[in-house]
Amino acid sequence: MTLRKVAIIGGGIAGLSAGFFLKSRRRNGIEITIYERDSRLGGTIGVTRENGYIADWGPNGFLDREPLTLQFVEQVGLRHRLLPSNDKSEKRFIYRNGRLWEISAHPVKFLTSGLLSLRGRLRIGLEYFVPPKKNEDDESIFEFAARRIGKEAAEIMIDPMVSGIFGGDARALSLKSCFPVMEEMEKNYGGLIKAMIKKRKEKKKQGQPGKSGAGGPTGHLTSFRGGLFTLIESLEENLGASIVRSCAVKEVLPGNSRKYRLITDVGDAEFDDVILAVPSYHAARMLGAVSAHLAKHLSQIPYASLAVVCHGYRREDIAQPVDGFGFLVPFNQRLEILGSIWTSIIFPEQAPDGQVLFRTMLGGSRNSEIVSESAASLADIAHRALSAVIGLRKPPVFLKVIPWKEAIPQYTIGHKERMAVIEKELKVLGNLYLAGNAYSGVGLNDVIKRSFSIVASVDGNLAAA
Ligand SMILES: Cc1cc2nc3c(=O)[nH]c(=O)nc-3n(C[C@H](O)[C@H](O)[C@H](O)COP(=O)(O)OP(=O)(O)OC[C@H]3O[C@@H](n4cnc5c(N)ncnc54)[C@H](O)[C@@H]3O)c2cc1C
Repeated sequence: MTLRKVAIIGGGIAGLSAGFFLKSRRRNGIEITIYERDSRLGGTIGVTRENGYIADWGPNGFLDREPLTLQFVEQVGLRHRLLPSNDKSEKRFIYRNGRLWEISAHPVKFLTSGLLSLRGRLRIGLEYFVPPKKNEDDESIFEFAARRIGKEAAEIMIDPMVSGIFGGDARALSLKSCFPVMEEMEKNYGGLIKAMIKKRKEKKKQGQPGKSGAGGPTGHLTSFRGGLFTLIESLEENLGASIVRSCAVKEVLPGNSRKYRLITDVGDAEFDDVILAVPSYHAARMLGAVSAHLAKHLSQIPYASLAVVCHGYRREDIAQPVDGFGFLVPFNQRLEILGSIWTSIIFPEQAPDGQVLFRTMLGGSRNSEIVSESAASLADIAHRALSAVIGLRKPPVFLKVIPWKEAIPQYTIGHKERMAVIEKELKVLGNLYLAGNAYSGVGLNDVIKRSFSIVASVDGNLAAA
């Protein structure tokens, strides 16, 4: 049997999960090489474990609603280390007019909350009567929300949710590409409220419980003991022999008979299949010689920068009670931060007893420049903003600042059409795959799913060879 050589460029979760799936499917006839530019694996998944704190640098969990991710965790052998979020963290808040307001999913509680004006709350109820959009044109998340639930709810509730998930601007991002489920709810059921009522009825008929949970429609945020980086450590153990660290791939060139030649820091090598699991702007730089057309479209996917400030305080130095997931800040409230996650309320093991760990986010696509400020300045901004909301009497006792430049891809209006061009070109080229968060979902579940389906295609090639 001839040995088929597969290169994976990038040792973040996309590259490592692709390597893991490939290794699990094929034990023979294949040689996998994973190139990682840094000395550390994980990409945006990193951790500082210090003085009883466990501070995630980037993502701090995944939603347990995706069976494939749970199956992957099981296969990696980490089921016993799964850490579901604490029930206390179910409360979520939005900052408006100088204070926090709890967002309640309960209709009566929501209608009596002062988060929105009476007019704004009534306008949400009128969503039931808003007719669906007649054309298939792409629309921004903000336009969709303002049209269906009113401008005030779009500004106060949807805008901060979008900056919390994508570090993005709801007025620029595509509904179709970011929240396809919402688009379908309007298309298939005539509106969001109508869809929720019909779905609940359908579930009742099928005898399914309405509440979400593991595998349910919304899912619970879940991590691992030791932080999300525990997953990277296990994958590293599993794939160790295939990984080449501190080795950047500079260029991918067309090779002989539909192969590809990789130019790397440590020399050249030829591969049958290449999976690029790097941000799309890196992929664009590498692929110019293979296809200028593909490189051009990849370079057009914009990215947002943001900084994560992990700061820990003694409980007695926090004036207000903190019990919940944390809060988000609508752009029009001008607080200099996107929001703050109350990390050790969500995962109590992540701070020592009597102390609280926060992860405060700054930047995003509307304020990316802030990420270039010094770590001290970012920490100061985060401390001042958080203090204005919950009252901090002393400086933090734990601090870690992580600036992420060009970290989260932005699925702007037209992303779907751009992806169609990219996929078409990949088909023509053959044996070349794009993994990672730039294409079909930014969350960890989406990234793992994409790697899984890429591996199915590579495996198909192997079977056919
Ligand atoms: C601050 C932040 C918070 C987030 N929070 C969440 C969350 O809570 N839940 C969630 O589901 N998702 C979250 N996300 C999204 C999630 O982290 C990402 O989608 C996911 O980690 C991306 O993984 P990746 O492997 O595609 O890319 P990356 O993690 O960026 O990995 C790419 C890797 O490629 C390497 N590389 C680049 N160029 C080269 C080269 N030339 N040669 C070799 N290697 C190269 C890089 O060094 C890097 O290791 C968050 C993202 C950020 C930035």
